[in-house]
Amino acid sequence: MRDTTLAELERRVAERRDGPAYGDGAMIVCDRLVRVFSADGVEVQALQGLDLLVREGELMALVGASGSGKSTLMNILAGLDVPTAGAARVAGCDLLTMDARARLRYRREVVGFVWQQTARNLLPYLTAAQNVALPMQLRGRAGRAGRAGRAGRVRELLSMLDVAECRDRRPHQMSGGQQQRVAIAVALANAPSVLLADEPTGELDSATGEQVFAAFRRANEELGTTVVIVTHDRAVAGEVRRSVAIRDGRTSSEVLRRTELDAQGREAMVAREYATLDRAGRLQLPAEYTEALGMEHRVLLELEPDHIAVRPDDAP
Ligand code: ADP
Ligand code: MG
Repeated sequence: MRDTTLAELERRVAERRDGPAYGDGAMIVCDRLVRVFSADGVEVQALQGLDLLVREGELMALVGASGSGKSTLMNILAGLDVPTAGAARVAGCDLLTMDARARLRYRREVVGFVWQQTARNLLPYLTAAQNVALPMQLRGRAGRAGRAGRAGRVRELLSMLDVAECRDRRPHQMSGGQQQRVAIAVALANAPSVLLADEPTGELDSATGEQVFAAFRRANEELGTTVVIVTHDRAVAGEVRRSVAIRDGRTSSEVLRRTELDAQGREAMVAREYATLDRAGRLQLPAEYTEALGMEHRVLLELEPDHIAVRPDDAP
């Protein structure tokens, strides 16, 4: 470790240790999250020490191959499942230690969710307006102005999401895209801090998927709700500022997008891919990189003033 004395390294480590705790101030904090399922004596490690931070007001996507652990993570964040180990906090609520009562309140008031299957989101015998009013009634408080206040909020949400015309229709009288937008209104009914969606456009064609995604964006921009969307849809993943990839139950990389002015002064979207550095210091090197330099088993690390060099093993 050229140019860096042990004392200097120790000083830097101490500086980090005395700083704020991991995830302080974040809306969603997953810290080395583990979920193991046991079925018929076989253990499946769906989450293997997953780290994730989401800021308040963010709109972000989670991507990853089938079986990588996305739904497992969403079920935990939704308060429907409990992790085996690690820590998870949403809006200050500790998802491991909540009792049944706190969990119920959490699911009704702190998070809203939209699932892929449109049929899972809405009650078939209620109209759109009744579906949206239901979570407010279940919450059991009269709210600002009781029934009138509720009706007003139902109207506001349906028109914000462009489904005002569906007010008195039951789910079977709506298109798939309309059902999902009404589902977003239901999820937003109690003004949750976080809106979670697990492949919400998975059953829709791409044009309809775009409209549903636009509804999520509107919820994020107009209400300030933090939104996390699991998606296979490249178009959706390409429209958010941050998409995090999950691989084998861990976050592996993320893409950040921002608009920049090009040489001609035109706005252009610039995307940059980052590798995830987990809490244990683990980093996954892309196979194209390691293969190009013939790296396997062991590499040399060197700490430089502003970067870390990874070199092929030179041991004889
Ligand atoms: P994704 O949503 O990314 O497709 P999942 O979170 O559904 O992935 O699944 C991750 C892994 O955990 C898979 O191997 C899946 O078979 C397993 N798994 C998920 N839920 C259960 C469960 N309830 N019991 C046993 N295994 C499960
Ligand atoms: Mg899934």
